[in-house]
Amino acid sequence: MNSIGVIGAGQMGAGIAQVSAAAGYHVFLADISQEVADKAKVDIEKRLNRLVEKDKLEKQAAETALGRIEPLSSFEKMATAGLVIEAATEREEVKRTIFTEVGKILGHKAVLASNTSSIPITRLAQASPDPARFIGVHFFNPVPVMDLIEVIRGLATSDETVEIVRGYGKALGKQMVFANDAPGFIVNRVLMPMLNEACFALGEGVASIEDIDAACRLGLNHPMGPLTLADFIGLDTCLEIVNVLFASTGDPKFRPAPLLVKYVEAGWYGRKSGRGFYDYSGEVPRPTR
Ligand code: NAD
Repeated sequence: MNSIGVIGAGQMGAGIAQVSAAAGYHVFLADISQEVADKAKVDIEKRLNRLVEKDKLEKQAAETALGRIEPLSSFEKMATAGLVIEAATEREEVKRTIFTEVGKILGHKAVLASNTSSIPITRLAQASPDPARFIGVHFFNPVPVMDLIEVIRGLATSDETVEIVRGYGKALGKQMVFANDAPGFIVNRVLMPMLNEACFALGEGVASIEDIDAACRLGLNHPMGPLTLADFIGLDTCLEIVNVLFASTGDPKFRPAPLLVKYVEAGWYGRKSGRGFYDYSGEVPRPTR
């Protein structure tokens, strides 16, 4: 496999493109417009340059990796890709439309994967041309830093598809864990109730943003507090995930916290929009309440 396609050039798609290019793959990186895809490549360049400045990457290696990334606003060129990874907005209808579109040009042996955080793989596979060649590859944010990929097998996913993804993950130097297609897979099933509960705690006035984060950082020995992490993931993405978990299990432990819903309604999506529980307009993030 020489080339891969990445659909969605946001936080995750850009990260997946970066690590794939660094591992030697030619990467077709598509988003809804050429402008968004081009901007993602500029951001990748900045990140690679920072690694060069910190002596973590050779200048030549950074330039070679960047040269392998081809930003696009359509999928046609992905006809030659051995693996296409969808990393678009966490909304089922968005993803299904993408699979239908890319399915029209996908090579007859190519694997189609979704980086979804929560939507069932077996269900998404129904919008793909061949559910045997459909799989979940769940990366973590920021992709170049986080070592894990959760691999999720749908009911129809073939062994061959699993092996292709295993080879790809190995080439990236990532650790892989394998999960069945259950709501939230492993990490989000465990993590999301905690992030959502932190939003309940803030909404109910249990403590301030800073104290909730400090309590979990120091009391649980976590590297960052839950509200900081929720901002980092994206509050819109967190809400979509708890909504999917709630809808697919009916379990009230996944009902979204009203404050999380309000923040998303206000367009306060976290770090990526400049404001969430913290304000990111200055040099240091400041709590907003
Ligand atoms: P994001 O909002 O940063 O990026 C989503 C991108 O998808 C945007 O650039 C948007 O323009 C693009 N997009 C939307 N519709 C599209 C279409 N039809 N064609 C092409 N591009 C389209 O979101 P993100 O944080 O990168 O999340 C992307 C996916 O990765 C989601 O499924 C999310 O659940 C999953 N994920 C996110 C995290 C995280 O921590 N943020 C971690 C693991 C997985």
